Amino acid sequence: MELPLYRIPDTYKPSRRSFICTTTSLAVAALWSGKGFGAITGNPKFSAYPFQLGVASGDPVADGFVIWTRLAPKPLEGGGMPMEPIAVDWIVAEDEGMSKVVRKGTATATPDWVHSVHVEVEGLQPNRWYWYQFKAGGEVSQVGRARTMPLASDKPDRLRFAFASCQNYSHGFYTAYDHMAREDLDFVFHLGDYIYEQAETPVSADRPRQHFGPALKTLEQYRNRFALYKTDPFLQRMHAQVPWIVTWDDHETWNDMAGAAETTAAQLARRAAAYKAYYEHMPLRRIALPRGPEMQMYRRLSFGNLAEFFVLDTRQFKTKVPYDGKHVPQRKDAMDPQGTILGDKQREWLFDGLGRSAGRWNVLAQQVLMGRVDLVNGEADGYAMNTWSGYEVDRRRMLDFVAERKISNPVVLTGDIHSNWANELIRDFTRPDSPSVATEFVGTSISTKGDTVTNPARREALYSDNPFVKYYGDERGYVSCEITPDLWKTDYRTVAYVSKPGAPIHTNASFVVEAGKPRLIRA
Ligand code: FE
Ligand code: CA
Repeated sequence: MELPLYRIPDTYKPSRRSFICTTTSLAVAALWSGKGFGAITGNPKFSAYPFQLGVASGDPVADGFVIWTRLAPKPLEGGGMPMEPIAVDWIVAEDEGMSKVVRKGTATATPDWVHSVHVEVEGLQPNRWYWYQFKAGGEVSQVGRARTMPLASDKPDRLRFAFASCQNYSHGFYTAYDHMAREDLDFVFHLGDYIYEQAETPVSADRPRQHFGPALKTLEQYRNRFALYKTDPFLQRMHAQVPWIVTWDDHETWNDMAGAAETTAAQLARRAAAYKAYYEHMPLRRIALPRGPEMQMYRRLSFGNLAEFFVLDTRQFKTKVPYDGKHVPQRKDAMDPQGTILGDKQREWLFDGLGRSAGRWNVLAQQVLMGRVDLVNGEADGYAMNTWSGYEVDRRRMLDFVAERKISNPVVLTGDIHSNWANELIRDFTRPDSPSVATEFVGTSISTKGDTVTNPARREALYSDNPFVKYYGDERGYVSCEITPDLWKTDYRTVAYVSKPGAPIHTNASFVVEAGKPRLIRA
């Protein structure tokens, strides 16, 4: 099926060290008319096209969604906006041509929030697509497309979504998003590492693209890094195409961040800067408004009675990472009953929600490996201590809960590890014959780690050390899922290279899960 695609500017010819895409929106903007708007509100003068970071929607409910944009004529230099509030008009229409406007309003973009705009659109019809657009001064944004969820009482027969993670800008091109945009999807989950905080020192000449500046510490630095990432035209187009449901991992703040353990004044200040910049650049609801170094990321979304999604935050409340995150056997610290990856409050919220869920499929959208994967080939054992394996008590609580409470079809979506996996989550990983109580699909990175191919010997060793692992692959890409009441299907979609643009897409493996049977069947 061929979908209408948002136009990628003709002048976008990705090349080394190129920020060319930041200026190309200018030419495209002229193609979009602002005919759905009434009179211009205010008359700010921008030094350049203010919508260079695109538009986005997110967190859909049955009667609406969030729409986002940010005014930034000079996106890589703090935004280039005057230190004053600016009126931004918005419209939501029933058609792509923006002629049947059903909602409109004016938001205020303030310097405090780097002239970002988050509008919670309400009062729309359930289970249908809409289009939206912004206008400030005489300039209009591109048109974005978003959809509402079915009503809670609806019984949808199908849902399609993709999930992605880990998009280090300097490691490669976002070709995967170019292909993702051609799929017929209802929404996208981003499971974190939307940006990377690292410096590029020394700047390595063989990187396909480059970060600039030091490792991120200040609000201004985090903002400029988000802006750099958001200038990518394929990322922008995917945001404009469907709503995104985002959560963070560690690199939105810093590598291996464990929020409950890293609480010096400097760490809290850095975290507050990182969280604020994250909020400013994501289509998040008001409930996520950061309060200093705290931000509400875990939340729940429903797609009728077909699927209930629990978006988790396994970073903010995480206690100290045992053994510096090394791949080691589960010694004392990994078994510490005081150790937690979710924190008590989030766990109680999750168990309460799962316990009362009417969803046919109950999906955890989260960050790090839940399966206890032995990553060290051969006799010796090694489990990544910065994943659920470093927090064994929390993992057992989780798997015991879904088993004992007979939670309907639990499925875990995971990012972080820059490779593809399909795991059966057995209740007791110390007993290989323990029954599977849930399934886990782990998605590879969009670009992080650059060009790699699966090492067949590594794959065989992982399979023989971990009988519950049904698939492992080491290419870049994303994962797409189709859910019906009786069947879940997952496709691992990969590109052979990201070091240059234009890689074709392949489905490297497909798995199905039959409702009621938490087993992976190769399709
Ligand atoms: Fe990553
Ligand atoms: Ca081993």
